Amino acid sequence: MPGFWIRALSAASALALTVPAVAVQVRVEELSAPPSAPLLKLQQSLREARASGSVRVYSAGRSLEGRNIPLVVMSPTGRPSLPPVRVLIICAQHGDEPASVEAISDIIRHCASGWDPSELLTPSLRKGSAGLEGLKNVLWIIVPAANPDGLQAGRRSNSAGADINRDWYARTQPETRAVKQAFARWAPHMVLDLHQWSPDDPPPADNGLEMAAAPGRTNSMERALAGRVLPAVRATGRNVSLISSRPGADPTLAHRFFASTGAVSFLIETAARSAPDERRRMLKDLVLLLSDAAGRTAAPGWEEALKGTPAGAAAASFHYPAEYREWVASRDGGGPGGPQGPLSDPRLWAAAALGLCLAVMRTRQGEAHPLRGRTAGGRVSPVRRRPWGFGVGSSTARRFPRYERARERAPLLKNALRAAASCAENMSYGPRSRPTSIRPIVSTAETGNR
Ligand SMILES: [Zn+2]
Repeated sequence: MPGFWIRALSAASALALTVPAVAVQVRVEELSAPPSAPLLKLQQSLREARASGSVRVYSAGRSLEGRNIPLVVMSPTGRPSLPPVRVLIICAQHGDEPASVEAISDIIRHCASGWDPSELLTPSLRKGSAGLEGLKNVLWIIVPAANPDGLQAGRRSNSAGADINRDWYARTQPETRAVKQAFARWAPHMVLDLHQWSPDDPPPADNGLEMAAAPGRTNSMERALAGRVLPAVRATGRNVSLISSRPGADPTLAHRFFASTGAVSFLIETAARSAPDERRRMLKDLVLLLSDAAGRTAAPGWEEALKGTPAGAAAASFHYPAEYREWVASRDGGGPGGPQGPLSDPRLWAAAALGLCLAVMRTRQGEAHPLRGRTAGGRVSPVRRRPWGFGVGSSTARRFPRYERARERAPLLKNALRAAASCAENMSYGPRSRPTSIRPIVSTAETGNR
């Protein structure tokens, strides 16, 4: 069969051509420098997150030197979902500021494993965090290393010597273009840009949360979120200033650029004198609490905050990418614990328990109840023939006025539940940290490490 031999020979020659290529590739990888410590930590964290199956790891693009710029899309609860609020987190635009990469690596690994995110908080914050319930409404779109070449070299700039956090309008660098594409694709409501002051930066190089002014709207959402988060962080004895960008401040920085599109955006700095451990803790606290506060803000609040801006229009018309939707559906709402059916929803069990309590209470009061079909006086009720109590009509209600009263009480109960829900929404992080109005200081430094 000559045809067979021709195919076999061509396959063998193709194999012979490929094998040396593979060998060369391996050798090149061996020769290239090992990743720097923060990149190595990130790679390990991404590997674990991928293995958990609860996280999507995409590539936002490539750096000038061809390094991958990973894009991690995940729910903080580790359960694949399509939540209403999206938060873009940008780390290490400056390659000599590794704290954000280390903090986010911890966050990704921890949350992808389905562990409680509040365990990442500083212990005194954890007590009042109410389980960070708002995180259920949040999707994180994480750029854990915006400037991988800089991170590899421990250098502020990218490999062209450009400070990518001064390139957001022109976007001359592949790193800024990649992150901008991620912004356009995922239409986030909020942007968090993570930085750190160095010991040689000019004072005051303290912990700071800087909000940028968005044209055409007030910073009321930024103030509300900061007002919910900062008092709690300050109650741990740490100083964090809320900073308002001074008018005319350099607009080419990421948080100011994204604010100019209408997105709520913050730049976070850690104090120059912080120990590395404290820097990571501070970043984790602020990322988790700000994300949680964003998730506790209901959809109308976000619509109002982003109204009339390009970011608001994008968020309003946003549909999750089909590939992501299919992936979430394939996980069946499941997370690291495996597929989760509707029976795993704790609200269902709470409602069932409440219903059971009410049924028992009614029975104990001796009123007519559908299961037994008897009144307190021992009279057989008309519902006896309908053992599950369906179709208790108005004549039954007349004969058994408690049914009528229970029916009247239903709206009251509904209102009480609604009030409890809104109360939960306004919850802050502990007794000493009620949401307050926060007075921002106006930034004076034109340059610096931002
Ligand atoms: Zn920086």
